[in-house]
Amino acid sequence: LAALKDESARARELDRAHVFHSWSAQRLIDPPTVARAHGSTVIDGEGREFLDFSSQLVNTNIGHQHPAVVQAIKDQADVLCTISPATVNAARSEAARLITERTPAGLDHVFFTNGGADANEHAIRMARLHTGRTKVLSRYRSYHGGTQTAVNVTGDPRRWENETGESGVVHFFGPFLYRSEFHATTEAEEAERALQHLRRTIELEGPATIAAIILESIPGTAGIMVPSPEYMQGVRALCDEHGIVLIADEVMAGFGRSGKWFAFEHFDIVPDLITFAKGVNSGYVPLGGVILSDAIFETFAERVYPGGLTYSGHPLACAAAVATINAMADEGMIEHAAHLGETIIGPRLRQIAENSKHVGEVRGIGAFWAIELVWDKESKEPLAPYGGGSPEVASVVAALKEHGVIPFNNYHRLHVVPPINISEEDLERGLGVFEKVLTDLDFPR
Ligand code: PLP
Repeated sequence: LAALKDESARARELDRAHVFHSWSAQRLIDPPTVARAHGSTVIDGEGREFLDFSSQLVNTNIGHQHPAVVQAIKDQADVLCTISPATVNAARSEAARLITERTPAGLDHVFFTNGGADANEHAIRMARLHTGRTKVLSRYRSYHGGTQTAVNVTGDPRRWENETGESGVVHFFGPFLYRSEFHATTEAEEAERALQHLRRTIELEGPATIAAIILESIPGTAGIMVPSPEYMQGVRALCDEHGIVLIADEVMAGFGRSGKWFAFEHFDIVPDLITFAKGVNSGYVPLGGVILSDAIFETFAERVYPGGLTYSGHPLACAAAVATINAMADEGMIEHAAHLGETIIGPRLRQIAENSKHVGEVRGIGAFWAIELVWDKESKEPLAPYGGGSPEVASVVAALKEHGVIPFNNYHRLHVVPPINISEEDLERGLGVFEKVLTDLDFPR
């Protein structure tokens, strides 16, 4: 323990001296040290253990240090650490096979990237070249990545300071009954009116100018609003009607998070392009990608695709993906995630919502759940403003951590997004902490 503390103290000193952190005002942050991790547990620089109910940035779907994946990375490192993308490599070929084995027929090729943002960049580039159109539609309350095009299609405040004004992106409202923009009172009404709004947006923007609609199959960081099959099928139909490419962003929702390999499977639709990252190998080595429909593949069959990356299909990352996908399949993790959502997370969170003054709604599926913290259930006023934090929400997060659980927090929301292979025992223990902390909340106005 003394060695771990020393190592962590030194790491902290060097971090503060030399590391520039994402999305942060550098002097105003106090990042926690994580020294070790295993399964659903992370260990800080003082040796304290926490249950990771955030899966980091919702990527460690199989938890930390899965032995089969660690071994696969070591084995690949012994053989070949890196190789140009303009070569054939066994790990890359097998990863592409395992991924496309899980997609609907007609989605048979993978372009590998380093992460989710560049997957979306390339998907949009492919859609633009395939259609000869430039405009892209995406929903408010979404996140698609931090690079230029990806952040411009993003529908959250992280876009604001990054907008160029030349992106060709138009945002629309997706279905979100709890905070309905359409005065809807039922999911069916919300879906129908959100579709009508999208239909009008397409008409008024000019259908022949629109290359793609990009949607998270289930919006993740923006609040885990599970859409209805009717809505998603309606979006698919609008894309078909107007020759618009449908891009399903599965970066967070994919690879088991929702209780299916891909979240779009819940809605009985087939996208034209699928982007993925995170869960594909739990982030053990950076990897993302775009899965192409045969029609879009054909566009680049005899014409050069003008894009690429030095590390496209990196052997260490692909070996990790192969081992991760095999572990998910062998250990029944996808079914486990669906089971946890139905029998444990959903029922426990609904009970917490009933008993807590400040929980306005809980919603989700699989191992992918959101808790809306509000001032009161009638006004639904968020306990922190859109795009910001508040002392109240900070105190809830601190209380959860004090009791040994790390939540995912976005503005006024807490997300319950543990590794999809978390044991029922660890899950119950962590949810017990949520119950304890949330049930007693009583903030004065
Ligand atoms: N798309 C979605 C839905 C995401 O949640 C994220 C990351 O949180 C991204 C894209 C961007 O992925 P990356 O951070 O790997 O670039």
